[in-house]
Amino acid sequence: MTRRQTVYAFGLVLTMAIATLLLAPYRPEIRPLPADWTGPEGSGGIQLSLFPDGAIYAGDWMGLQAMVNSDPGKSLLRVRLDSPTASPLAKANLTRSGMGNFWILQWPWLWNSDGQAGWHTLFVYPGGGSGGEPGSYPPGMQYPVQILPADWKPALRQSARWRETQSACCEYYYLAGTESERDRSDLIGETEQAYAKITVRLHPGDSKLTVVFLPRLYGQGGLTDGEGILSYLDRNYTGTDFPVVLTHEMVHLVADAGFPSNLRPPAFLNEGWAVYITGGHYRTPEPLQERAAVVYQSGAYVPLATLADSFYLAQHEIAYIEAGAFVEFLVGRFGWEKVYAMFRDPSNAQPPSAALDAMLQTHFGEALARCESEWLDVLRAETPEPDQVQDVKFTGAFFDAIRRYQTDYAPGSNVSAMWIPDIPGARERGITADYLPSPVAAESVALETLLIEAQRQAGDREWTQAWETLGVIGRVLDAKERRAPDPAAASPRADSYRRLASAVLRGGSEPLSIRLEDNRAEVTVRPLGGLEKGVQVWKRTDGGWSRVG
Ligand SMILES: [Zn+2]
Repeated sequence: MTRRQTVYAFGLVLTMAIATLLLAPYRPEIRPLPADWTGPEGSGGIQLSLFPDGAIYAGDWMGLQAMVNSDPGKSLLRVRLDSPTASPLAKANLTRSGMGNFWILQWPWLWNSDGQAGWHTLFVYPGGGSGGEPGSYPPGMQYPVQILPADWKPALRQSARWRETQSACCEYYYLAGTESERDRSDLIGETEQAYAKITVRLHPGDSKLTVVFLPRLYGQGGLTDGEGILSYLDRNYTGTDFPVVLTHEMVHLVADAGFPSNLRPPAFLNEGWAVYITGGHYRTPEPLQERAAVVYQSGAYVPLATLADSFYLAQHEIAYIEAGAFVEFLVGRFGWEKVYAMFRDPSNAQPPSAALDAMLQTHFGEALARCESEWLDVLRAETPEPDQVQDVKFTGAFFDAIRRYQTDYAPGSNVSAMWIPDIPGARERGITADYLPSPVAAESVALETLLIEAQRQAGDREWTQAWETLGVIGRVLDAKERRAPDPAAASPRADSYRRLASAVLRGGSEPLSIRLEDNRAEVTVRPLGGLEKGVQVWKRTDGGWSRVG
């Protein structure tokens, strides 16, 4: 849903938390969560993540991400391998993220671990100033890293290769052995349908669009970065309608083909455009004015100039509802042709609110403030249905929980710091490991299936239960964030999910969704390393869970 943001360079002094980082030895058949690489000193610390996340097997290209919440200054971060005097694998500055108040450095494919199974040491140092020279490394700057033997690789990691196909509208890339390969013809059909729906209204470009289907969840499930990147996976814990997310990204692809490379409408307009053309953000149809009225009447409304200038920093669901509904309002007020002409004629004024204002003035003769005040009259006059009020509030809280989950459990998946290195480059080099799912571990499966259950309850309008489920997830995330030794134990229900997930995993299957009532659970599964779905029935016993069907 989000466009990747350029990160902006900044500078000051980096303080590195003393962190002893350790990747424990792993059993290869169940890939557990990566060890926690966060420094113990919180905001002053640097947070490191290794990729591919979970485990690195000999032959993988190792990548490193460094993040810090306070301005690190201009000092170079250097990374050396195995000796503090080795020549650096890399050195660079952390740069300020466009997605939040943090500084980040992503180094994909730093080192090829082919033939390097065993323990290694990473020396990571801000360098540049005093103490940054070889021989002066405090112990906390040395990070043991284990490279696992290549033949321990899970089956999917062994077999994943880039595959390519095409249809009338598009070129597709996906990975062999994943859900996209299994459902390839359905995906192509859905993409063609989305394209047909969009090009009824938008002029298609001359060249084919490129769509990449990946088996792990990134942010809300889609992004556009020259290519459309769609998360397509069996345990998609967003619970959104896939064709809606697909259509949204396709709108970006079709629209982008009509702009010069360096000029786009402001993100507010671009995203609002995609929501409006799609007919909703996560589902269709979504009554955009009614949903925007819920936002406005609840006091969560962000004034449009503010929103335009910091679109990706605002609460995501509120930002997209406002943007989509405002575009819909403009179409109602000025007519489709004029709004389309305005959209296709971006202004290069800065900041983005000035560009938006200039575009509205040029094409409609009305300033942003005037358009906004007319629109707010519409929103004030709306009387949203109680279900819509619940849905808007729940959807925002639900996706906030997803973003926390991604930050806490699935490094590289959170929209503000996605690990999704140059995909055309990866195809060229045959690199696939960075795009495969996060490790399967009982605790994360429990949380993901709880998220799926919360969405099912919301879809069935069981609001009380849906909020309760979200509360369960929140308690586990709170515990994880305060570094409790066993976060799932923070809630009996989460603990039941975790124990059940663990029993199903030990039985050789991966849970995709769980319906747990009293002492009985129905679990949709697929075999570990396989793609064929099935259903199992489990019963709670004294010691845990037993399969009964
Ligand atoms: Zn978007």
